Amino acid sequence: MFSQKALLLGASRRPELRRLVIGTPVTRRVVDRFVAGETLDGALAVVRQLCGEGIAVTLDHLGEGVTDRAEAVRSRDAYLALLEGLAPLQLGRAAEVSVKLSAFGQALPGGGTDLALELVRPVAEAASAIGTTVTLDMEESATVDSTLAVLAELRRDHPGTGAVLQAALHRTEDDAAALAVPGSRVRLVKGAYDEPPSVAWQSRADVDAAYARCLGVLMRGPGHPMVGSHDPRLVSLAQRLADHEGRTPDSWEVQMLHGIRTDEQRRLAAEGVCVRAYVPYGVDWYGYFVRRLAERPANLRFFLRSLVST
Ligand code: FAD
Repeated sequence: MFSQKALLLGASRRPELRRLVIGTPVTRRVVDRFVAGETLDGALAVVRQLCGEGIAVTLDHLGEGVTDRAEAVRSRDAYLALLEGLAPLQLGRAAEVSVKLSAFGQALPGGGTDLALELVRPVAEAASAIGTTVTLDMEESATVDSTLAVLAELRRDHPGTGAVLQAALHRTEDDAAALAVPGSRVRLVKGAYDEPPSVAWQSRADVDAAYARCLGVLMRGPGHPMVGSHDPRLVSLAQRLADHEGRTPDSWEVQMLHGIRTDEQRRLAAEGVCVRAYVPYGVDWYGYFVRRLAERPANLRFFLRSLVST
């Protein structure tokens, strides 16, 4: 039996379904909840608004799984344009960027990891030049070693480069221990991909327990933990652990996705917690959107209801 989540995540890789969903007029309205528009100007308007409300951002130019070098180069150029657009806002680390290495050619045959490193390096340089950082999103489990290898290279010159670890993976407790070093920025998430039992915890309870263990490792370490979750129990656990470890508010943060639990984002920020919203923008929103549907049955029901009531 396939779970609804597995089916949806499978659909995120099917081009014919992509055309069907994108071609539906109502989709735009639902997508707008999660995506800050298709253009850089639209994204910068959202950045100004959120930063004005005391919420930091990490911007994601949507795109993943490119199939040739030219597309990978276009991803690099989109990020360079984004950082050029951010420069005059002078937000420093309040506006950082998140990249998916699969958009930089990581999966291309014959040296994809090297290509991704070559193309992401100028993005890290441009980010450093305006006083901010890049975080490497984490994708399917098969890419973890390659992504951590790129991270290690980037951190030589740009030590603030961030990583993402997925609590669902069995290996993550060890990875968290290895990355709990001074200056290290690690976003801990549950994991958005469908992974087999050989590499990942399958039940919610097991993933949550693994998250709590990894969070403890990161909070006790000397790095900067980034708590990427909307789960109220895990966010309050993070607050308790940060208090227990005597962390100052600028030494850790909570990250949530644009459009999800926005009241909670404002409430935490008002309490003095450093909150960062993950703000995706661009035309290639399909994979991101389907993962958001897969995370929550209510999102899927809302989307399907919108389709039939048009
Ligand atoms: P859940 O138990 O799934 O959710 C807790 C509550 O949050 C839900 O009850 C609901 O109220 C709300 N909620 C959660 N998801 C949704 C949603 N889609 N729509 C509406 N409400 C929702 N995953 C990766 O694999 N790689 C990454 O690089 C990555 N980066 C991320 C960056 C950030 C800032 C965040 C917040 C998540 C990221 N994720 C990433 C996704 C993550 O792995 C989870 O799939 C996602 O956050 C849902 O898990 P949760 O911790 O919010 O808990």
